[in-house]
Amino acid sequence: MGLILDPAISVIIPIYNEEKNIFNLYERLTGVMQTLGENYEFVFVNDGSRDNSFALIKTLADRDEKVKFINFSRNFGHQIAVSAGLDHTSGKAVVIIDADLQDPPELIIDLYRKMQEGFEVVYARRRKREGESFLKLLTAKYFYRILAKITSVEIPVDTGDFRIMSDKIVQVLRHMPERNKFLRGQISWAGFRQTYVEYDRAQRVEGETGYTYRKMIRFALDGITSFSDFPLKVATMMGFAVSGVAFMVMLYAMYVHFVTEATVPGWTSLILSILFLGGIQLISIGIIGEYISRISNNVRSRPLYIVNETNLAVQQNSGPQH
Ligand code: UDP
Ligand code: MG
Repeated sequence: MGLILDPAISVIIPIYNEEKNIFNLYERLTGVMQTLGENYEFVFVNDGSRDNSFALIKTLADRDEKVKFINFSRNFGHQIAVSAGLDHTSGKAVVIIDADLQDPPELIIDLYRKMQEGFEVVYARRRKREGESFLKLLTAKYFYRILAKITSVEIPVDTGDFRIMSDKIVQVLRHMPERNKFLRGQISWAGFRQTYVEYDRAQRVEGETGYTYRKMIRFALDGITSFSDFPLKVATMMGFAVSGVAFMVMLYAMYVHFVTEATVPGWTSLILSILFLGGIQLISIGIIGEYISRISNNVRSRPLYIVNETNLAVQQNSGPQH
């Protein structure tokens, strides 16, 4: 095989049950790449779709040599699918985009142009968000604002993973061994010159969201535990506060016993303090447990994902070993 020039742009597309969006997305992305007139590749990561998505991706790959794919052995989750893409791209610039067309492919032109001005990362910041449930909008809004408050890393608010970044940043990400991925935080953490362009986020065109509330909660906890020790500090602070109150109650109890010598039935205060202390203790243990489960997850160091099939040059059975 002769030497193949590395593409200028790699586009990573995580896929989970997107059979109705794939062709449409492919057409629009191809149009965008033709406008930019640069050499490119698409890396489709099929994250254990239960529908016909993978067959469609293979059809595209047969037709177009720019279409690369990685097929997971099962559903590993969105962040891991994008990470697998990042492990296998070779572009000078790498784009991460959702398959459901909520991230307009045409915006890549703006992201790319902005990058040419000398930025390592240009992320797409949502000005408006359409067709999402009230609860999702509300939780997302507060999640990003609280996260911003309790972490020292500046993680931009109202931003998903839709962005473009240079191969420098991709190198940094490849060498971050943590397994509970929160890519948008990790990218901010990397530093360099980062900026954003704004856009209005559209509705999902076809299909249903792959992010259940369960996955969203896990993702939020990953973000918080990876970038903040604040919850652990809350546990400590609650411990101090409760101890302080308990000490006062102790003084009061001794006063009642020795000075007033009034016999107090005391059931109410007893049951209240037991419940209260029990609650505080369980919360604190739970918070510690969240961190510990992530430590054990990292110590286990299983491969991050299992590749079933790929047309990429680097054949791998598992994720990179760090
Ligand atoms: N996705 C994935 N694995 C999953 C869930 C989602 O690869 O377990 C992909 C999905 O196909 C889409 C992107 O991640 O390209 C964003 O997912 P989705 O649109 O379902 O999330 P939402 O926009 O509702 O937050
Ligand atoms: Mg979506």
